[in-house]
Amino acid sequence: MHDFKYKNSELYAEGVPVREIAEKVGTPVYIYSHNTLLRHLNAYKDAFDGQPHIICFALKANSNPAVLRTLAKNGSGADVVSGGELYLALKAGIPAKKIVYAGVGKTDNEIAQALKAGILMFNVESSDEMAAINRVAGSLKVKAPIALRVNPDIDPKTHPYISTGLKESKFGIPIEKALENYRLAKKLPNLEVVGIHKHIGSQITTLQPFVDALKKVIKLINTLRDEGIEIKNIDIGGGLGIPYNDEHPPHPKDLSKAIQPLLKDIGLNIILEPGRSIAGNAGIFVTKVLYKKKHPKKEFVIVDGGMNDLLRPSLYSAFHNVLPLKKNSRKKTRYDIVGPICESGDFLAKERELNSLSQGEMIAVMSTGAYGFTMSSNYNSRPRVAEVMVKGGKFYTVREREKYRDLVRGTKVPDFLK
Ligand SMILES: *Cc1c(COP(=O)(O)O)cnc(C)c1O
Repeated sequence: MHDFKYKNSELYAEGVPVREIAEKVGTPVYIYSHNTLLRHLNAYKDAFDGQPHIICFALKANSNPAVLRTLAKNGSGADVVSGGELYLALKAGIPAKKIVYAGVGKTDNEIAQALKAGILMFNVESSDEMAAINRVAGSLKVKAPIALRVNPDIDPKTHPYISTGLKESKFGIPIEKALENYRLAKKLPNLEVVGIHKHIGSQITTLQPFVDALKKVIKLINTLRDEGIEIKNIDIGGGLGIPYNDEHPPHPKDLSKAIQPLLKDIGLNIILEPGRSIAGNAGIFVTKVLYKKKHPKKEFVIVDGGMNDLLRPSLYSAFHNVLPLKKNSRKKTRYDIVGPICESGDFLAKERELNSLSQGEMIAVMSTGAYGFTMSSNYNSRPRVAEVMVKGGKFYTVREREKYRDLVRGTKVPDFLK
């Protein structure tokens, strides 16, 4: 559910007409709803109420500081996958003790940064990484809290690019190798084994993969206990899907209900890492029609937002609903909505039946609050777009649109070219 709704045929973000924001801030622009973010976070809090848990928002979905502060002020922790994300999480006021750090390629510098901050735990993805963390912790004379990210070999039945828990995936440690790796971790002097982690993929719309993966993990926890390896935290990852089109993904409450029977006797602190299900439907991307173009077999609408601003359609053939800012009864036309980038793969929506669009009109690309701005780039030397947060009847620019001078920031011309 979200707070982008029509009132008298006009699309609103909470209490503000979207058109008003776009006219003031310009297009393209991402717009986030403060209220939707909070409602989604609270849905998780309520679902896991009454048992020890931490909700660690996955920063890679959306790392705008205003979004992070909204979540931090309401008790959220963070799941980070880089030193940059760790920096942003801490800067937004997320306590280090609520931060978990995953990712297959942590560098020595990033490991040291996380140790100095005092994060809750590293989710370790290989034995090489375990050795590196042990070495860096030793040089800093601290103990590193770690969990092993195990790969339970479960098919989450989602897009292959966002499946992470299959045998052929680069993520985690194969579950049948987990025990020997835990034994190894136990022996390393500067590591403290505190948890176990799994994350099987994203945009998962059924509960069974979560249940199946968790069963495998719990079996492993019991084996570890038999060996005298006691952990405190079970991190079940993120991945709950959202409705982009006609999906009916489970609510956090359903997830909680489905896994409760497995977790209730285990007596561990539960960590969740939702990204998309908190931020996805809390954001829209607004773009303006520049031109229309009729080819023998297609009608194109060319908009001012492209794949550098919103990559998901190009990268995953992702579907995003497209809505006019003002509802109307013009005749339906089938369009491909494409951006200005010099790539055939640059599209936001294909074969979409919409009330006919006119030049200068603005449209909203829905469900773009997660993996939208964070995946954007300067490709084709396009300044990155502005971000706005709406709260009630007011809106706030939470990131300025980049200027051309930002395109040369940090670059240098060697003397021989001057
Ligand atoms: C991407 C990611 C998440 C968040 O996934 P969502 O599908 O956005 O909920 C959580 N944990 C890890 C380790 C991730 O890589």
